[in-house]
Amino acid sequence: MNYALCTMNYTLMTTPILFNLNDSELEQFVAGFGQPRFRAKQIREWLDRGAPDFASMKNLPETLRRDLDATAQTLPVRIVQKLESSDGATTKFLLELAGGEQIETVLMRTTYGNSVCVSSQAGCAMGCKFCASTLLGLKRNLTANEMYAQVLTAKWELQSSDVTHIVVMGTGEPLMNTDALIEFIERAHADLNIGMRRITVSTCGIVPGIEKLTEWGKPVNLAISLHAPTDELRSVLMPINNKYKIAEVLDAAFRNADKNNRQLMIEYILLESEERRAQSLDINSDKLKDNKETSNSELPTSTLCALRSYNSSVEHAEQLSELLRGKNVMVNLIPWNAVAEREFSAPSGNAVHRFQDVLIKNGIHTRIRRERGTDIGSACGQLRLNSKNQKQ
Ligand code: SAH
Repeated sequence: MNYALCTMNYTLMTTPILFNLNDSELEQFVAGFGQPRFRAKQIREWLDRGAPDFASMKNLPETLRRDLDATAQTLPVRIVQKLESSDGATTKFLLELAGGEQIETVLMRTTYGNSVCVSSQAGCAMGCKFCASTLLGLKRNLTANEMYAQVLTAKWELQSSDVTHIVVMGTGEPLMNTDALIEFIERAHADLNIGMRRITVSTCGIVPGIEKLTEWGKPVNLAISLHAPTDELRSVLMPINNKYKIAEVLDAAFRNADKNNRQLMIEYILLESEERRAQSLDINSDKLKDNKETSNSELPTSTLCALRSYNSSVEHAEQLSELLRGKNVMVNLIPWNAVAEREFSAPSGNAVHRFQDVLIKNGIHTRIRRERGTDIGSACGQLRLNSKNQKQ
């Protein structure tokens, strides 16, 4: 690429993203500013550390930093908002991608290390009934670079310590974007030295995607978002179950975990549902119903509201135990993070422990996932949804 072509590129791409250029493209880019090749190397080092802006690149001349700032972007994700939980353990980023779509990334500082929750798609097509990420549908798949840049953003935030774990549990269904996912994981492993066994991919149960991971053969952890113990219930809660039934999903998942000698993780959100029933107020309403001239919507009604265990009763726990008995599995019981648009609620602590006790009695490893960052809207997709709602 010569200088003229480079200038043309500026007009074609609104903002060139330097992280997406290869080494020779980056050299040609800095040559466009009359800069020597070693500047490209310096910039690459900053990009690989996750520098969110050019002002941070302290060894570049100030004029170059300003020129770059006016014409280019460092990473393929741009921080729109950054929120810290009150205990300082969780940082949540709202990030913007090229084209304007937004995603969320969460950095969790834990006793075992620093874990990053990565989004794999902008939005989601899966339509799970309890989830905020899917409310606006799928916008697009993320590239491997966009996933990797989320980890770099967290790495920059940590400064002196490293990202040690990755969980692909942010917005989107990673196994609807499996090629980019694998490219991202290979790179995070090679360049950031994150062990495959410290990376977890969570899926709602895309069987061909699970099989692709098994063929790929790297020992990443697999998590299945199960959330219901019967096909009947799961198909209502998670439409993907109409395509891939529980038995088929668990078969594929255990084949993967067994081949990689890993423990399969099952995610299970405990839910109660509000049952709303219209109830007639007027003792004469039966007569009114018989009156052909009166439509039903005109009848005086009140709403009866009752809570019922949706997937969280002792019977559900027994059914779940039947599915998992004797397997190398860990069941993560997840307190539901309330999503205003969804008509569920989380069961009481007692109900959660009652459910867990049944699993324990049946010899199944289980733990209750600690809620993190609820004060900063850490439920999947909430921050992005709020931001979208404000824009509209
Ligand atoms: N699509 C993938 C990964 C993204 S969702 C999957 O289904 O696994 C990551 C996890 O968060 C899933 O287990 C999902 O069911 C759960 N989740 C979604 N919305 C939630 C909410 N409001 N509260 C708690 N967990 C939620």
